[in-house]
Amino acid sequence: MNLNNLYEKAFEKIKEANNIVLISHINPDGDALGSSLSMYPILKRMGKKVTVFNATKPLPLYLDFLPNFNKVTDKLPKDYDLMISFDCGSFDRLGIEEKPPFLINIDHHISNTEYGDINIIDPKAASTSQVVYNCCKHNGIEIDKDSATCMYTALVTDTGSFQYDSVDDKVFLMAADMVKAGVEPAFVAKMLFQRDRLSRLRLLAKAYDTIEMCCDGEAAFVEITKEMMEITGAIKDDTDTIVNSVRAIATVEIACMLREDDEGIKISLRSKNYADVSKIAQKYGGGGHIRAAGATIKGEFDFEKVKNMLKEDIKKALKENR
Ligand code: 5GP
Ligand code: MN
Repeated sequence: MNLNNLYEKAFEKIKEANNIVLISHINPDGDALGSSLSMYPILKRMGKKVTVFNATKPLPLYLDFLPNFNKVTDKLPKDYDLMISFDCGSFDRLGIEEKPPFLINIDHHISNTEYGDINIIDPKAASTSQVVYNCCKHNGIEIDKDSATCMYTALVTDTGSFQYDSVDDKVFLMAADMVKAGVEPAFVAKMLFQRDRLSRLRLLAKAYDTIEMCCDGEAAFVEITKEMMEITGAIKDDTDTIVNSVRAIATVEIACMLREDDEGIKISLRSKNYADVSKIAQKYGGGGHIRAAGATIKGEFDFEKVKNMLKEDIKKALKENR
């Protein structure tokens, strides 16, 4: 089925529903929370009962400026008739046990497992919010300032501030439309990028000290241990973009962050020009995009062992598609 048909089917289902849950992936980013919150005013206007759910607690504070951020809850209502998931590649990343009565899955991950009853997956979209935007436009739904602020923030965060390969004329046209709807780009930029935490900078200093180059400078690893987090007072959110800075090293094609978590080692992979890191993440039970992917290697806490495994995968990925 083509996307336009799916947009129509989704809105037919939404019209029929009374009690709707909007859900996004655990450890949400700007796109996950932004996309789900963007639908809140729209569905309220349609007279629906709406719950915005995310299983993660606490939520990332840097997104607290998103309109209706304070509505996000980690409690599911007892009864609801429709769930819509945003930016979530697989059912297990929703952080819920029971299957919903009906699920619309809206996403742009190439690795999406199509776990919904309706699956609106557009891997060409720069953000899930762009899929939501296209869906609303197609159905003639008005996007107000609050929805637009959420959609725009999702677009900014998922394109690395309009820097990635995913950025094309459609992305800028959407951004322009969001500004017309009332979004203030300077406000969003200040909220996202001018409220840094000292603990994060202290953590960066320690993390950068661990950078290890490999593959003739084409790959780099960076490590974050629990001890580093404790000493600096950093929180998980503070680790979010460290791997991007390591990718920014001139010679680097693939950057990899390893973080010691309770369950094991969390890996975050980024590539710059051509390498497909989503394949590497999928090998370890994770997923993501060609240029940004991640996984958690559960029960494994040995950084050197994981790095050695990953070096082999990275070497292979560097040879392909170049
Ligand atoms: P990050 O490295 O920032 O955690 O994630 C980069 C991308 O990979 C995001 O699009 C994220 O949704 C995806 N991703 C990260 N970790 C996992 C994981 O464990 N499983 C899956 N399926 N995707 C992941
Ligand atoms: Mn996304």
